Amino acid sequence: MNAHNINEIDELHWTLGLIQNLEVGLVVVDRAGSIKLWNGFMENHSGVAAQKVTGGGIFNKFPELPARWLQQKLESVFLLRNPAYVSWEQRPYLFHFKSNRPITGGAAFMYQNVTLIPLTSPTGEVDHVGILIYDVTDTAMGQIALEQANRKLQTLSREDRLTGLFNRGYWEECLNHEFERFNRSQLVSTLIMFDIDHFKKVNDTYGHQAGDEVIRVVSKTLLQQVRKTDIAGRYGGEEFGVILTGTSGENAMVFADRLRANIEALVVTYGGNDIRFTVSLGVSEINYQVDSATEWLEQADQALYKSKQSGRNWTTLFGAE
Ligand code: GH3
Ligand code: MG
Ligand code: MG
Repeated sequence: MNAHNINEIDELHWTLGLIQNLEVGLVVVDRAGSIKLWNGFMENHSGVAAQKVTGGGIFNKFPELPARWLQQKLESVFLLRNPAYVSWEQRPYLFHFKSNRPITGGAAFMYQNVTLIPLTSPTGEVDHVGILIYDVTDTAMGQIALEQANRKLQTLSREDRLTGLFNRGYWEECLNHEFERFNRSQLVSTLIMFDIDHFKKVNDTYGHQAGDEVIRVVSKTLLQQVRKTDIAGRYGGEEFGVILTGTSGENAMVFADRLRANIEALVVTYGGNDIRFTVSLGVSEINYQVDSATEWLEQADQALYKSKQSGRNWTTLFGAE
């Protein structure tokens, strides 16, 4: 044995030691899916020793693996001789390992990124594939927490606190959106604005808290009547807007007047008092003469004003007065 050989043996020894102790899972399989290498990381996390699995078929030893999917991935790496990457976002894990990071908390399993690399034999054949398993639980949990926080923030920033309806800012965004959509698709939509009649009197007679309760009950009644595609918002103190998407003015009038009648029939009991109230509504169907979302809103507002002038508890369609 010469010095050159000793170096090679040393190197091989070190390499095996490194592979064994790597903080990354490493599995080598041949074309038949037989396991040729199972490193320390895989032993530690699966609880299965290398000598128990080497020589066995990966799908026999681990029947919980997504067999069809993994088979296809392996075949394509053998065929194309290119590595393949799978992130935890596409597939949270390949091997179901327990998460051993109590600090990150909340992870039910180890999130994994997976890389499949073609391994070439001395004759240039790709007859093995190396499967690398990276523990990305910390990254995944961080990202999931961030996404949840963002979703919550987004909901909060869209929502009116008192009523759970969309707030004015977000509702106006929707109105603009709907106006733009009409310009592209010509699919009709109708806007309804409404306002509680003599609301100052409710506040003055029963108190501000009672007034708040009336606003909540009106909002609930509105939400019970809208479809999923309708967009209901609180425009101001006791003013509301609803966009009925894909609905003509004529049909929106039916909706609006039913809402008016439903609200007229309500009795809110607060502080021992039975409070009754009504609303006035203005309805405006979008059309080609409307130049902007603001103009659309002004038309509904004008119709609402007509309803107030007509003695309140009334519904007016813009252009049909
Ligand atoms: P009209 O029939 O012409 O609509 O008369 P109104 O009294 O309803 O109209 P006005 O706009 O003069 O009064 C609205 C009142 O609503 C004034 C304001 O103090 C009250 N208000 C606005 N926001 C809230 C709120 O969030 N809660 C309560 N309780 N009152 C509010
Ligand atoms: Mg008002
Ligand atoms: Mg009012």
